[in-house]
Amino acid sequence: MATLRQKALLLAQNRPSVSATAPSLKISDYFGVNVFGKKQMKESLAPTVYKKVEEAIEKGAKIDPSTAEEIASAVKTWALSKGVTHYTHWFQPLTGSTAEKHDAFFDAHAGIEKFKGSALVQQEPDASSFPNGGIRSTFEARGYTAWDPSSPIFIFSNTLCIPTIFVAYTGEALDYKTPLLKSIEAINDASVAICQLFDRNVRKVTPSLGVEQEYFVIDKALFATRPDLVMAGRSVYGHNPARGQQLEDHYFGSIPTRVKDFMLDFEIEALKLGIPVSTRHNEVAPGQFEVAPLFEEINKAVDHNQLLMDLMDKVAEKHNLKVLFHEKPFAGVNGSGKHNNWSLITDTGVNLFQPSNSARENLQFLTFLVGTIKAVYDYADLLRASIASAGNDHRLGANEAPPAIISVFLGSTLSGILDELEKNGNIKIEKGDNMYMKLGISKIPEIILDNTDRNRTSPFAFTGNKFEFRAVGSNANSAEPMTALNVIVAEVLKQMAKDIEKEISAGKEKKIAIVNVLRKYIKDSKKVRFEGDGYSEEWEKEAEKRGLSNLKSTPFALDTYSDKKVIEIFQKHNVLSHVELHARHEIMLENYIKKVQIESRVMGDLALNHIIPTAILYQNKLIENANGLKGLGLDNTAAIETIKEVSKHLESLKSNVNQMIDARKKLNKEDDIVKRAKGYSTDVKDAFFDKIRYAVDKLELLVDDESWPLVKYREMLFIK
Ligand code: ADP
Ligand code: MG
Repeated sequence: MATLRQKALLLAQNRPSVSATAPSLKISDYFGVNVFGKKQMKESLAPTVYKKVEEAIEKGAKIDPSTAEEIASAVKTWALSKGVTHYTHWFQPLTGSTAEKHDAFFDAHAGIEKFKGSALVQQEPDASSFPNGGIRSTFEARGYTAWDPSSPIFIFSNTLCIPTIFVAYTGEALDYKTPLLKSIEAINDASVAICQLFDRNVRKVTPSLGVEQEYFVIDKALFATRPDLVMAGRSVYGHNPARGQQLEDHYFGSIPTRVKDFMLDFEIEALKLGIPVSTRHNEVAPGQFEVAPLFEEINKAVDHNQLLMDLMDKVAEKHNLKVLFHEKPFAGVNGSGKHNNWSLITDTGVNLFQPSNSARENLQFLTFLVGTIKAVYDYADLLRASIASAGNDHRLGANEAPPAIISVFLGSTLSGILDELEKNGNIKIEKGDNMYMKLGISKIPEIILDNTDRNRTSPFAFTGNKFEFRAVGSNANSAEPMTALNVIVAEVLKQMAKDIEKEISAGKEKKIAIVNVLRKYIKDSKKVRFEGDGYSEEWEKEAEKRGLSNLKSTPFALDTYSDKKVIEIFQKHNVLSHVELHARHEIMLENYIKKVQIESRVMGDLALNHIIPTAILYQNKLIENANGLKGLGLDNTAAIETIKEVSKHLESLKSNVNQMIDARKKLNKEDDIVKRAKGYSTDVKDAFFDKIRYAVDKLELLVDDESWPLVKYREMLFIK
């Protein structure tokens, strides 16, 4: 009888490809058809009502009940015309995924379809099942969701989805979106103040975000046979395939047909949802792919990334595939990130990170550039914490991934300019001198999007006209790191504005005042700049010498949420109160413990129920063989040696699993959540995961292939 593994392999090998066709050759014919966007609103709302919505979107103005009523009615008509029967508030609780609670438009009492303005604006989902870090005790289940008009309403899975924020009835944020929206205001205020030094016309500055999303794809049946992938999202066992990444080149450019069809399909659906995916499919590791939509205003980009992940998951089902968003689903193979490309754009259409051919604009560019570098230096630990998760711990600081040390890469051109500025800043500028010339600011090449000067090993790199935060985990909600980034840059820009003001009050000319402050900031933040190989051991040593943190484990990285300095900036910029930050810290620790606990259980269960019994059966066969050979008077050394080796790994496996279970039991009695989380990191994960995996992966090489219970790496990674 065939084993589950063999059956799954047979299924996977004989899958037909499921092709997808776009509704039209022209994308513009169907882009955004499933979105109730500005265009649809304009068409269906009275001009006065539309104006109010626009104000709510642009300026965050409140929507009054009668306006809400009219919008609800128009949305309902639009949704019903598209065959939609249900609606839901769509929000991003701290569980890490998106949440929905569906209600029908149909009102059985009235016998008609209804959708009230109040239902559009506010809902009370049963919030007791979402994490709240002690803000809202479970018996008091009143949290509510409130419509966020700045992110458009859309149809997903035949349901009208209304993007909302999620807050406790006492007002504290219980989601990712609320602090993000507040951080957008904070950075807007701080940036506009700086821009005013250069251009009085700037009234608004908005962060932009473009998310490059990496992911793995494997066959659905193979996925289903691996309890570790199902439960923990990553394979806890599996020996490296013989042809792994050493043959990297081999895989570039040849995307398997099934995956290509899947990509095409989800891209079509994404475009219908107004997600501007640009067709780009580079393959990074075997089985790994990437999708990168065009950048958008940050709030929309975050929603679109969350939605895209949901969408990919759903479309994959149709193709009998499973998408893995885990940061390190396969050991020894590249991990997955979610590169957050971030920039600041003014309402006058200027990207503040775009070097230009105008000297004046370049001084502005340098101000924002240096401000950001200083922010990363001052708050590196907060940035690190903002991307900390059990999954990302397997990637950061491990193999084939950016290090857990936060540093900034600028490229040789900019690095040189900052060095010059630092050195030459005290050049005496005489009246009539061209200061820009003298300081070398006038000659920043307008285009430094030089692809040859890219550093793929930097966690935070300047890439020509934007910063790319590459250390973000593939499974993360980008709102978390982007909120942190917005807040820290806002803080430094605010400080900068003050420092410049001080210089001006002391009688310095404005330009000189700015340059003086820049010089100081460049000097102060120099240690965070690194142009070399971030994956190297030398960098770890060098970073230590420089006093930069290298926090490899989540619960330790999260300690910074209790730092006075961090509590203060979140409070000062009105993004998170102390209570909210504390709650978040607890939720992150809770999530971490749960994840490691699950991994540890899966490891134990697989070892005890699958691996050990299989290895013992094989061992028995070997014993029979050894005895048989001996009976015939033949040499049985090979059989005896294999028996010994299998025994050795079996012993180690059994004993380590038992010890790991004991370690867990002991930790579960620990009441202090910080200590418990740290214990899970050191006493469970660090102490046992590698040892246990080592024994299992060795056994995989010893036990005959036929009876091995788990689908192997080579079978999962090389999809047909
Ligand atoms: P790279 O080669 O630097 O990774 P890509 O052109 O592939 O550049 O872009 C990566 C992502 O960065 C895309 O999502 C793109 O839309 C986004 N991006 C480009 N310019 C900006 C910008 N000014 N602000 C934010 N994101 C941007
Ligand atoms: Mg990139």
